[in-house]
Amino acid sequence: MNMHLLNLLFGFFAGLALFAAPAGDTPPLRGYAPDSGVTEREWETKFRAMPSASEIGAYVKRLSARPHHVGSPYDKDNAQWILGKFKEWGIAAEIEVFHVLFPTPRERAVELVEPTRFTAKLQEPTISEDPTSNQHDEQLPTYNAYSIDGDVTAPLVYVNYGVPDDYEQLDRMGISVRGAIVIARYGGSWRGIKPKVAAEHGAVGCIIYSDPRDDGYFMGEVFPRGAYRNRDGVQRGSVMDMPVYPGDPLTPGIGATEKAKRLDVKQAPTITKIPVLPISYGDAQPLLEALDGRVAPLAWRGALPITYHVGPGPAKVHLKVKSNWDIKPIYNVIARIPGSTYPDEWIVRGNHHDAWVNGAADPDSGAAALLEEARAFSDLTKQGWKPKRTIVYCVWDGEEEGLLGSTEWAEEHATELSRHAAVYINSDGNGRGTLGMSGSHSLEKFINGVARDVNDPEKNISAWKRDQLTRLSHAGTPEARQELRQRPDLRIEALGSGSDYTAFVDHLGVASLNLAFSSEGGGGVYHSIYDDYYWYTHFSDGDFVYGRALAQTIGSAVLRMAGADVLPYDFTDLAETVNRYVDELQKLWKSTADRIKEQNREIEEGVFSAASDPRHPTLPPPVQAVPPFLNFAPLQNGAAALTKSADRYEKALAKASLAGRNFASLNAKLIQMERGLTDPSGLPRRPWFRHQLYAPGYYTGYGVKTIPGVREAIEQKQWPEAEAQIARVGGVLEHEARMIDAAADELSR
Ligand SMILES: [Zn+2]
Repeated sequence: MNMHLLNLLFGFFAGLALFAAPAGDTPPLRGYAPDSGVTEREWETKFRAMPSASEIGAYVKRLSARPHHVGSPYDKDNAQWILGKFKEWGIAAEIEVFHVLFPTPRERAVELVEPTRFTAKLQEPTISEDPTSNQHDEQLPTYNAYSIDGDVTAPLVYVNYGVPDDYEQLDRMGISVRGAIVIARYGGSWRGIKPKVAAEHGAVGCIIYSDPRDDGYFMGEVFPRGAYRNRDGVQRGSVMDMPVYPGDPLTPGIGATEKAKRLDVKQAPTITKIPVLPISYGDAQPLLEALDGRVAPLAWRGALPITYHVGPGPAKVHLKVKSNWDIKPIYNVIARIPGSTYPDEWIVRGNHHDAWVNGAADPDSGAAALLEEARAFSDLTKQGWKPKRTIVYCVWDGEEEGLLGSTEWAEEHATELSRHAAVYINSDGNGRGTLGMSGSHSLEKFINGVARDVNDPEKNISAWKRDQLTRLSHAGTPEARQELRQRPDLRIEALGSGSDYTAFVDHLGVASLNLAFSSEGGGGVYHSIYDDYYWYTHFSDGDFVYGRALAQTIGSAVLRMAGADVLPYDFTDLAETVNRYVDELQKLWKSTADRIKEQNREIEEGVFSAASDPRHPTLPPPVQAVPPFLNFAPLQNGAAALTKSADRYEKALAKASLAGRNFASLNAKLIQMERGLTDPSGLPRRPWFRHQLYAPGYYTGYGVKTIPGVREAIEQKQWPEAEAQIARVGGVLEHEARMIDAAADELSR
């Protein structure tokens, strides 16, 4: 459907919808007294005219001119340059240093030793068109940081994405990886999950490669002709066990200051158990071609011009990784604009500045938008603007290796942040397309409001409207379309992990948002030397108009949060979302029970043995215990209490007169609302993760698990634990409801 037709159609439905406001009418701002809302809108309009696409382009060019990973000269140079910019703009700033474990490779080898010989290149070559691709002296070699040292030779087994389901399939094919080196393709999970699951199944080494099906020629033209990964492109990346805890492996829970008490490297639980290296598809093809044994299941096959086999053997591989296990300094740049009315309420805004190599997309495109926001705020200050709350700008170091800079800073300042941080707003890389919004659901209404006021540079409609229409174009069911047309707010995604918001939301319980434009362009230079200014200006947001849109979006969010009379959280969307999660969990229990019952029945009936081809036999799955009934009542009661209190607060806010009152005491209560969703003892087996609604999956990595204590217990069939977690989360929700009641009472006073 073309956009014109879609607009016509939408106009028809919007006319029917109850919430549609007449054109040109601006709704009152949530949390603002009528007069202060008008003033706020004036400042925001001025602000949004300020960010300049060409300035953003100049920052990206400067930041990405040389490789700038942790420990490199240009990493420090960039931090000092960023510090200088804040100072030039009259914003107080400093560099805060931490000292973290950062392994860099000393020896790397991947060799096929049987049945033929082949030595992997492990090197991304210079491309003549691309002027920064030749900076080999400064580039980090291709490797996976926090792989344990190792030197192993073993038969090779292809394990698809290397996630738990893949190993279930291997079991049914009668293939074990015990004593083998596995080769997994990138995708399907966060990369650190692959060596973790491989080690749990007894593998002795892990190779991860980029299959052309996932981000190479199967997807589009490859670099330098197109945006996608070429034959020699390699995805670097961290493989530390971040779902246990991110940040410096040696200082869990505390800031990695110079004198901090450190674990011994050998005790650090987040370093992998087996050696790991990433390779290109150029290097992977000879290894995969040398495999024999079972032909890989259909869904496991990539886009290389070979028949994919699983093995084991006859391919035998030698894998060697040895690193320098050094402690390196990291440089966080922290800048502050003090608040005039509520200086003890902090609006924290961050993006990292370190990269794996040149990092024009990841992270310089986001860091540049952040800088341009700060420059515009400095201009706004000259015109007389003063934020009511303190704005804290954080430009992190060491994100790529494991969210090092943000985690260490959040741990070091945990007490102050718990008291003062109202919100953390993150970005990372940025590109063209629709606005992606994820975060805490108490901010869903807020960020929807902001997105309505930002213009999409390609379509000249609001970023919100474009997002809504794009979602309609993908919506698969009439119910989904109806919701998109009628629900006032677009749903935001829950946060998993994968960027610097993790310590804020998951560890400290600070309401958080993560924002980026993306969805158009695509590409395959993630964490390679080709993610640079040449690639970005040829294949992504080359005129930086989406960089400007990101600065406008997040800057408006910061302004609006910093200037509100009452912090503009909303608990009705939160409560509705929690009720959905509770329904999902009940369905998950039921579908798990049904599946196990059906499978046990089929085993008994002989379905699996009848269906198995004797020349390529498949074993039946093991008989499993049927899950006991779970009592979901504590969760249902908690969710119901939350709904009731959220409505009560909403009514109190609608009735309250916000003009001329000081809300310090109410705001202090509101700031604690997200903290209320945490539990100090954390999640089972990972106490660092305290949020009871959101966490990265223990076996998915970046992917979020909502109500993770209960969900993962059901997924892993830990029934007594599921029951205990239901009671715990139910209690957390009941307590949250009482906190919201107390805020409603204060508002009505
Ligand atoms: Zn990044």
